[in-house]
Amino acid sequence: LNPHFASLGTTIFTVMSALAVEHDAINLGQGFPDEDGPADLRAIAAGAVADGPNQYPPMMGVPALRQAVADHDRRFYGLDYDWRTETLVTSGATEALAAALFALLAPGDEVVLFEPLYDSYVPIIRQAGAIPKFVRLSPPDWSIPPGALEAAFGPRTKLVLFNTPMNPTAKVFTGAELERIAGLARAHDAYVLCDEVYEHLVFDGHRHLAIATLPGMRERTVRIGSAGKTFSFTGWKVGYLSGPASLIGVIGKAHQFLTFTTPPNLQLAVAAGLNKDDGYFEGLGQSLAAKRDRLAEGLQAVGYRTLPVEGSYFVTVDITGVGPALDDAEYCKWLTATIGVAAVPVSAFYADADPPRHLIRFCFCKRDSVLDAAIERLRIGL
Ligand code: PMP
Ligand code: GLN
Repeated sequence: LNPHFASLGTTIFTVMSALAVEHDAINLGQGFPDEDGPADLRAIAAGAVADGPNQYPPMMGVPALRQAVADHDRRFYGLDYDWRTETLVTSGATEALAAALFALLAPGDEVVLFEPLYDSYVPIIRQAGAIPKFVRLSPPDWSIPPGALEAAFGPRTKLVLFNTPMNPTAKVFTGAELERIAGLARAHDAYVLCDEVYEHLVFDGHRHLAIATLPGMRERTVRIGSAGKTFSFTGWKVGYLSGPASLIGVIGKAHQFLTFTTPPNLQLAVAAGLNKDDGYFEGLGQSLAAKRDRLAEGLQAVGYRTLPVEGSYFVTVDITGVGPALDDAEYCKWLTATIGVAAVPVSAFYADADPPRHLIRFCFCKRDSVLDAAIERLRIGL
């Protein structure tokens, strides 16, 4: 057996969702909306199945979606990608990440990452034979500790992989932070892989900035988006990448032997989604901001200290002094089984030793009635 995978547990999202089902708990753990995305896009997907063809679409993605990805990046970031050579469609951001990491990394390369991090990153980096170098962000504002980023870079640094807006911290990297990352990437001639799946889920005055727009960065940066987040179709698993032809071409080589392609009807529907007018994308942030406030206020009312939420659909709380004195993983099990509300322990987003054990993450992309019912269970049970 391959020790990189045989040694792994089951992903925390699957574990907590199964526990939620077992205890009939309200599932604010695994991140997924409880209402499906736009009906017009679902109709396009259904119609494309009925009408066909339902055969292999082009390996790099259907032209309509690749064009829509390039148009989207031009509209929102002023980035100018040639859809024929500089875009790629994958089966979710998960496959985009795996294809990019396999394509860009060679054994012995070092990868700079920020902790906490999404749980798929490190197993793929290790399988590629590369070595993760962690920069641990400091709660509650998840700032980059002075000197830590510089210390993570070295002569073998090949890639920086980061996620903004960030899961599970809900942090949106600032322009100054992106400049710092970009400066080090340029100085070490490193690639940047930016997981931007929550790009349109930003709140208040915060703005998602694409690091590819900074000087000298377009040629070394690959960005990743996902229809799961932007259109609330997490089950469709449609992801997309954009970047310079020299990198996208090699990532396509990895993609051709991971999945080769992605269902054509879903690609056509996502193309129509990316072509929607600005109002759709703005509405996404607005409706989620109201849900964030609803859940955060409810959590505060039952005694939790909530951490700032600038983007994504997650709110993290400090469990210290609220309910039993357990570590975050045990606390989430207790909360699910006893109170009937599932959350996710933030320590699951750490690959290095000694993660914080006092933070748990709740997902707020749920109907208001579901958020209210969860708060009511917490109010009665805690
Ligand atoms: N990156 C991050 C940060 C995520 O939260 C997710 C969510 N599931 C993914 C990647 C994977 O996205 P997809 O469902 O499109 O594979
Ligand atoms: N990205 C989602 C989360 O963070 C879940 C992804 C999954 O279930 N694999 O909750």
